Amino acid sequence: RASADAPLPVLGDDVLAPLVTGGEVFYAALDYAASAPVLRRVWDDVAAYAPYYGSVHRGAGHLSQVSTRLYEESRATVARFLGCRPDDEVVFTRATTDSLNLLARALPTDTRVFVFETEHHASLLPWRGHRTTCLRAPRTPDEAVAALDEALRAAPAGPKLVCVTGASNVTGEIWPVRELAAAAHRHGARIVLDAAQLAPHHPVDVSELDVDWVAFSGHKLYAPFGAGVLAGRTDWLRAAEPYLAGGGASKRVVRDADGALDVEWHTGAARHEAGSPNVVGAYALAAACRALEEAGFDRLVRREQRLLARVLDGLADVPGVRVLSLFGPEAERVGVLSFVVDGWNSSHFAAALSAEYGIGVRDGMFCAHPLLRALLGGAPDEPGECGGAPAPDAGTGERSLNAVRASFGAGTPDEHVDRFVR
Ligand code: PMP
Repeated sequence: RASADAPLPVLGDDVLAPLVTGGEVFYAALDYAASAPVLRRVWDDVAAYAPYYGSVHRGAGHLSQVSTRLYEESRATVARFLGCRPDDEVVFTRATTDSLNLLARALPTDTRVFVFETEHHASLLPWRGHRTTCLRAPRTPDEAVAALDEALRAAPAGPKLVCVTGASNVTGEIWPVRELAAAAHRHGARIVLDAAQLAPHHPVDVSELDVDWVAFSGHKLYAPFGAGVLAGRTDWLRAAEPYLAGGGASKRVVRDADGALDVEWHTGAARHEAGSPNVVGAYALAAACRALEEAGFDRLVRREQRLLARVLDGLADVPGVRVLSLFGPEAERVGVLSFVVDGWNSSHFAAALSAEYGIGVRDGMFCAHPLLRALLGGAPDEPGECGGAPAPDAGTGERSLNAVRASFGAGTPDEHVDRFVR
């Protein structure tokens, strides 16, 4: 049995071995989509840096200089990991939610935003100050591209932004990002990729996908909490007011003769990184990028797909289990899947998996309420509206829209997924 205060074990010496598996080796933490375990290599890299810890861009002292160099090198590592174009900028944020809110604040006035209702709330909600068209859940990747194409064709002239997920945090299904980017650009729109779930499982190449921005979180990419990334085009970011006003973002501040403050802001990434930067978080995130590059996504993807096939085949043989899918059995997926079980309340099911079998999964609506309604057939939301009604309460007797989610990735032992299926 797992115990919350058991010592945290280290699993082997492999660069892919997660340092933490959720309490004990026995405990099967199948909740990578929420936060993935920290890789041993990341932990070791951060430990090696710890004696040099200092404030970035703030001092002439040796530690400050080392930290500044490592912080800027971390930016370069992330740019390489993402296949950024030479002119792209990497801004360090707190996580994907923060990155998308930053971009939302940098949109030119009158930007129209296009999203699918299938998005995580982090990609659905930051645009509320702008006219937002929320497209219905498509049933095939081609339908997604056609729906976006049609919506953009019908839109009036002016700046437009499409926000799309790379892989769903509910179904794990991979979206046709390259084709959606082509549709966006055909109609003069920009596109931002929410890669929170794609980047940990799949190479993301900004140049090849031809997306304008990409956002992801360190804590889902085998790094600790606290750092994320927004990377991409500089023009909208440089034209916008700083995300936070303060030191680090400001280049020159003058009190003028009338007692007003005249501020000249930085133009680079620092413009949106006011305050003392989270250098350890950025360094750890870059260490995770390096570890994944070193391990090679080929190897990771192959192994994860093998585990995924075992889970999907196994669940197909369990009576009463329905795996949720928008795009059907042919869909490409990452190691994330959600399901409901006939006759079971999903919360009770997830609690039983943990208490009885030492398996940690997640249950609920996964911050994707409109998607859960589309998948489980709840009342349709108002046309064109994002958000919809609140989650139904289990006590009201209303049909539950909760599901159970299992997710895994680098370092997941075969035994964990086999036990889950069993
Ligand atoms: N987008 C997707 C697809 C996600 O799965 C998540 C996290 N569940 C987010 C955005 C938000 O990420 P964070 O909580 O790290 O800001």
